[in-house]
Amino acid sequence: MSKLAHRMTAMQESVTLATSARAQALKAQGLDILDLTLGQPDFITPSFVQQQAMASIQDGRASFYTPAAGLPQLKDAIASYMATYYGYGVTSQQIVAGTGAKFILYAFFMAVLDPGDEVLIPTPYWVSYADQVSLAQGQAVFVPAEETNDFKIKVEQLEAARSSRTKVLLLNSPSNPTGMVYNRDELLAIGQWALDHDILILADDIYGRLVYNSVTFEPISSLSERLRQQTVVVNGVSKTYAMTGWRVGFAVGPEEIIAAMSKLISQTTSNLTTVAQYAAIEALTGPQEELEKMRQIFEDRLNTIYPQLNAIPGFQALKPQGAFYLFPNVTEAMRLTGYTNVTDFTNAILEEAQVALVTGEGFGAPNHLRLSYATDLATLQEALNRLKKFMETKSQ
Ligand code: PMP
Ligand code: GLU
Repeated sequence: MSKLAHRMTAMQESVTLATSARAQALKAQGLDILDLTLGQPDFITPSFVQQQAMASIQDGRASFYTPAAGLPQLKDAIASYMATYYGYGVTSQQIVAGTGAKFILYAFFMAVLDPGDEVLIPTPYWVSYADQVSLAQGQAVFVPAEETNDFKIKVEQLEAARSSRTKVLLLNSPSNPTGMVYNRDELLAIGQWALDHDILILADDIYGRLVYNSVTFEPISSLSERLRQQTVVVNGVSKTYAMTGWRVGFAVGPEEIIAAMSKLISQTTSNLTTVAQYAAIEALTGPQEELEKMRQIFEDRLNTIYPQLNAIPGFQALKPQGAFYLFPNVTEAMRLTGYTNVTDFTNAILEEAQVALVTGEGFGAPNHLRLSYATDLATLQEALNRLKKFMETKSQ
């Protein structure tokens, strides 16, 4: 008999990480796979960040544990980041750093959810939210955002999904996987609804600085003092500073919740790896030009490949405003090629065109698939050529 806990049977492996591992394994076998699975910048961490991290190793600072919620200097760096990009001040007790925004999100759910508490998750949603809510014994309640409304939820939909157990509304803008960004008026309406019903807002702002073509990112927590008090902001350095491997995430919010998250860290990871903390301090407070260069490259890639993707028979995508994903609706492409399920369709593209994409199923979107453009332009264009050929050959 299996010795595993029930929670492991119910839990899904992260579909993004699993798909990427599969693509890498096929590559290792010598296959010419074009891997557009993972959302991680294809740049390396800026050299000034590397240098400060190396210095902290060499002079011994990185040898030791730190306070569970992070080094005071890291908290200072986060506070000054918030002052610059969010326009408000926060105290050290309102900040916690941890092992990636992913673990910080998990710490948040563990800190606030009692069994059966509901979290409203607009769909399509990033793959890890629902399993993390379940692990914390909460209940994910999906609120389908319509593609015709640019994949954004409306207050009426939230109201229809609300129950006496609704505790948290999750907002991820810019969104992974849709790339959509809520504007100020939309956020004010949603924020007012959350305040009226005393629902905590979890704002996953990890792509906040990756917005394109003059779109602006409005953090919901910046819109009013009351909204700030009702919101826990999650952010990190992975996407913005090309630092996915360092695993640095942080949260800013009400002291009581931050203290609970810090307590969880003190009993699990102890603290975010010390060398990564020194690297993050440098990333957050150092020169920001590298970031703008990377953002501009993502924007150029998006503007180049977006029309090319939409020209492929049966692929139809909204133009993303942020993050680094394209999320085409492939209903027509599946009809043309005789597939009835997007996971089978994505697998066929992998096997026959050797292009690795992520099925929409894991994002709660059974008619879509995701491709990441955090990859060089030549690879992206070759991938689109292969997709076009695949469609031409397979269309019935
Ligand atoms: N939130 C979203 C929406 C993401 O796409 C990611 C990607 N990894 C994360 C959080 C977590 O980022 P990390 O753990 O690398 O900080
Ligand atoms: N967030 C990225 C993605 O969606 C990285 C993988 C992950 O953490 O899921 O591809």
